[in-house]
Amino acid sequence: MESVDVFDVPGKGRGLRTTKEVWAGDVLFAEPSFAAVVFDSMAEHVCHSCFRRQPKLHRCGQCKFAQYCNRTCQRQAWEEHKLECAAIKAYGKVPNENIRLAARILWRVDKEGGIVSDTQLISIDDLENHVSDMLPEDLKDLKMDVLHFLDYWPRYSKPHKVEDVSHVLGLINCNGFSMSDHRGLNAVGVGLFPNLCLINHDCWPNCTVILNNGNQTAVNTLFHTQRRIELRALGKISTGEELTVAYVDFLNVSSERQRQLKQQYFFDCTCKHCTEHIKDDLMMAAKEVDDNKPSEEEVKEVTEYSLKMLEKMEKARVEGDYHEVVKISRECLEKQEKVLADTHLYMLRVLSTASEVLSYLQFIDEAATYSRRMVEGYMKLYHPNNAALGMATMRAGVTHWQAGFIEVGHSMICKAYAIIMITHGPTHPITQDLEAMRRQTEMELRMFQQNEYVYHSMREAALKNQPMSMRPEPVEEGIKNLFRRK
Ligand SMILES: [Zn+2]
Ligand SMILES: [Zn+2]
Ligand SMILES: [Zn+2]
Repeated sequence: MESVDVFDVPGKGRGLRTTKEVWAGDVLFAEPSFAAVVFDSMAEHVCHSCFRRQPKLHRCGQCKFAQYCNRTCQRQAWEEHKLECAAIKAYGKVPNENIRLAARILWRVDKEGGIVSDTQLISIDDLENHVSDMLPEDLKDLKMDVLHFLDYWPRYSKPHKVEDVSHVLGLINCNGFSMSDHRGLNAVGVGLFPNLCLINHDCWPNCTVILNNGNQTAVNTLFHTQRRIELRALGKISTGEELTVAYVDFLNVSSERQRQLKQQYFFDCTCKHCTEHIKDDLMMAAKEVDDNKPSEEEVKEVTEYSLKMLEKMEKARVEGDYHEVVKISRECLEKQEKVLADTHLYMLRVLSTASEVLSYLQFIDEAATYSRRMVEGYMKLYHPNNAALGMATMRAGVTHWQAGFIEVGHSMICKAYAIIMITHGPTHPITQDLEAMRRQTEMELRMFQQNEYVYHSMREAALKNQPMSMRPEPVEEGIKNLFRRK
């Protein structure tokens, strides 16, 4: 590969570094999945080939499990599905996603070997599986999966030893990459990308990894692009510098990030932001106005109250009781506002859920206010080119636009566009959506500046003719963890 190579990082084992200087938005490498499957929970809702959510899917006539948009998607997926299709048919049921993915990986290894292209930097056999680090209860699950796997694995396929199967299942456990739909909003599947497994974590990384689902529909044309991940630089990186990505979201205090990393990836994070506890103070800060600070007891009380309320809100959201979510969040914010700083994590979490739910319920003005406060908090905490910041800014911009706050809406959409151009690149569907919105809001803004009255009456007429499109139901905000959490 021309711009990266593998090297030994003191204290961390293997890592990747650049072999040339790169700048924000540069692609260090693109990698197609070695294998990928849709989640069990999504199997009925997305195409098993292009991972798009579709209202109407066509079932594979053989296994009655796989579903596709059309013949093109089905044909495209056949190579990966062929052996699986026969195995599911013979097994009489569908094994879970881990087992389906492990089988796809092993079928491919059996056919092509552990390295399948000259850009693959490491063989499947040489990746770390961390099985020996697993907690007893997780190990028990893994052993169950091994047994089910052996049950499912067809007799005519090459037999594998228990260790080989545990190796692959272990890989999936610590390195299974969450794959989103093409709009990047929902996690719909899991895949294995060998080169990605070589990149170490940093809570304040110099790169980001993004999934581009390509354009399956243009298959057999010049414009066809494959589904792949891209490793993109977030800023200038000098030759020889180690490349890092964040495995977990930054918006947790360092001790919590370290706990998550230890639990899922079995290492102690010693990055600068963790060892120096950078921004921990902001994330837990009390409100301060002209040297007036709430008492320690007050802060403690509101913190504990917030945790309880967040739990209640989450429960109501999962149950679809959105009016309850709104009620709790209004109450909670009223208490928080007096005591907690605008960068406090618990306040930001309430604002995030509340703004999503409110815009779903079409309380657009209130949703806009909350989303703006959330984005302002995020901007003080996140790296300026963080993808999650870009996505949150985009959603807040759209909410403002829908609410008729065209000036703020347009400016937020422009900000989001600048971030997403770097993190997702110009060909990603999200970037293209943003580009279209940027042009549209720019035009509306110009109209607004020329004649506010005309703008508002035109907007009203447009809304009357075309009822505001319903947003999808609010889900947990975006996908912030790089690898799938169990
Ligand atoms: Zn499809
Ligand atoms: Zn099938
Ligand atoms: Zn860290």
